[in-house]
Amino acid sequence: MTDMERAQSAVKILKEQYPNASCSLIYNTPLEFLISIRLSAQCTDARVNSVTPSLFADFKNLEEFSNAEPEKIEKYIYPCGFYKIKSCDIVNMCKIIKNRFRGKIPDNLTDLITLPGIGRKTANLFLGEIFNKPGIVVDTHFIRITKRLGFHCSKNALKIEKIMENLIPPLEMLKFCHRVIDHGRKVCTARNPKCYECCLKKICSYYIDKSKE
Ligand code: SF4
Repeated sequence: MTDMERAQSAVKILKEQYPNASCSLIYNTPLEFLISIRLSAQCTDARVNSVTPSLFADFKNLEEFSNAEPEKIEKYIYPCGFYKIKSCDIVNMCKIIKNRFRGKIPDNLTDLITLPGIGRKTANLFLGEIFNKPGIVVDTHFIRITKRLGFHCSKNALKIEKIMENLIPPLEMLKFCHRVIDHGRKVCTARNPKCYECCLKKICSYYIDKSKE
């Protein structure tokens, strides 16, 4: 089987296994989503969702966030960890969107990754969710699972993004990433992956190699 054929199989199998996979962050506007994904670094989506209702109730729009003192944001987001840097990033990000981008959140990767705290992973997730623009969201689950499946042997997120971009059809990219992340949480865990019950084992290099031992 070629990598392309295995990638097509992985897309199909995961679609059947996780038909409703989606981003679990709760938001009402693109700005709320951007702030939520900044908060989700080193934190669970559930915890982010537990703090954002009160944050978004008290800071309602770009203007209010960009005028806020970071210390005022800290008390809302404290449970998400790294609250000092995250609150500074949120305020500065909003100031830049307001001043440099005239109040509009950029709809392209090049501009998005100039915002504080926004890297390629976050930007691709944002572009996929808000603008339906295809991109690969490379997080730790994605790195681990695509490596075990045998698509690469790298730890470099950009390299992995480029490899997988060539294997996954654009329209499937975002959902595929959500499904891989779900699979990483439930089955292909970092320690002791549950290969015996895994829907991908027939196309997984890690499993096939282990079976030969
Ligand atoms: S077979 Fe095992 S290593 Fe391969 S994807 Fe499934 S759980 Fe992960």
